[in-house]
Amino acid sequence: MIDAAPDLVDRARQGDPRAVARLISLVEDASPALREVMAALVPHAGRAAVLGVTGSPGVGKSTVTSALVAAFRAAGRRVGVLAVDPSSPFSGGALLGDRVRMQEHATDPGVYIRSMATRGHLGGLAWATPQALRVLDAAGCGIVLIETVGVGQSEVDVAALADTTLVLLAPGMGDGIQAAKAGILEVGDVFVVNKSDRDGADQVVRDLRGAIRLAERAPGDWRPPIVKTVAVHREGLDDVVSAVDKHRVWMERGGELDRRRRRRVRDEIEAIAVTALRRRFGDLHGDARLDTLAEKVLAGQFDPYAAADEIIAAL
Ligand code: GDP
Repeated sequence: MIDAAPDLVDRARQGDPRAVARLISLVEDASPALREVMAALVPHAGRAAVLGVTGSPGVGKSTVTSALVAAFRAAGRRVGVLAVDPSSPFSGGALLGDRVRMQEHATDPGVYIRSMATRGHLGGLAWATPQALRVLDAAGCGIVLIETVGVGQSEVDVAALADTTLVLLAPGMGDGIQAAKAGILEVGDVFVVNKSDRDGADQVVRDLRGAIRLAERAPGDWRPPIVKTVAVHREGLDDVVSAVDKHRVWMERGGELDRRRRRRVRDEIEAIAVTALRRRFGDLHGDARLDTLAEKVLAGQFDPYAAADEIIAAL
């Protein structure tokens, strides 16, 4: 038996971490209660700045994320961290359990950290992440950091969920920016060259600068800044915060923030609709109508497109 959605939402809005955790678990479980939960949350969301943190494994995503949390906290901002693992069926903090770098924030009531697995739901990243974001947003987190863990296309996908995407690179990770995944340079709003205490950092910066210069850009377009950090020593994070804030001002001025948010909600709606359709189609799977149609196609009386049209009409 679950608590009544409006009550949970009220408690989450007052910052009750257990209510927030409960709501995110409902998202993870694709609970039928989500319809009511989202209806109750929507009027209270839309304030959080959403930052995506992405880059190859080992560049320092979780170290940078943790250091960024500290920098935002020092500025008095409430922060949510969502570590999303689209490839893992496990969840419930198991993932973060060994993410020692986050431990220092574990007892800070101004920080909410949560890992979330989408348990292989189709399109899970597209609908579950915005819903979890909405929970954190309504719970008063002015900043929400989304970090993807695990590997895969997710490094690029996170950009579709964020207002501002931080792309991390580091020296000594293979062949400089060549090692970066295809598509990842295009999604960067702010580039962070982490591990700048290591040899080769300036070369990564030069390569990046070259790549950014080559990208086509109209006058007035955002030119992604490059910030050097040494996350283990908490160096350079204030510069990251200030680059993020500048990007936000630019987005607000030109309408880009609204465009990005609209796109995010469109993706969410689409993912919910496709999931619902699939479920209904699943119900149809054992339906005798499919057999009848298959026989008609086999008998040459019907083409498969017409058969599919009939199935869709039946949905
Ligand atoms: P992730 O896999 O991208 O999340 O990377 P981690 O945050 O787990 O960092 C990978 C390794 O790099 C860890 O051993 C960190 O201690 C180390 N690391 C992170 N930031 C820095 C840095 O600025 N300088 C150096 N030298 N090492 C770092």
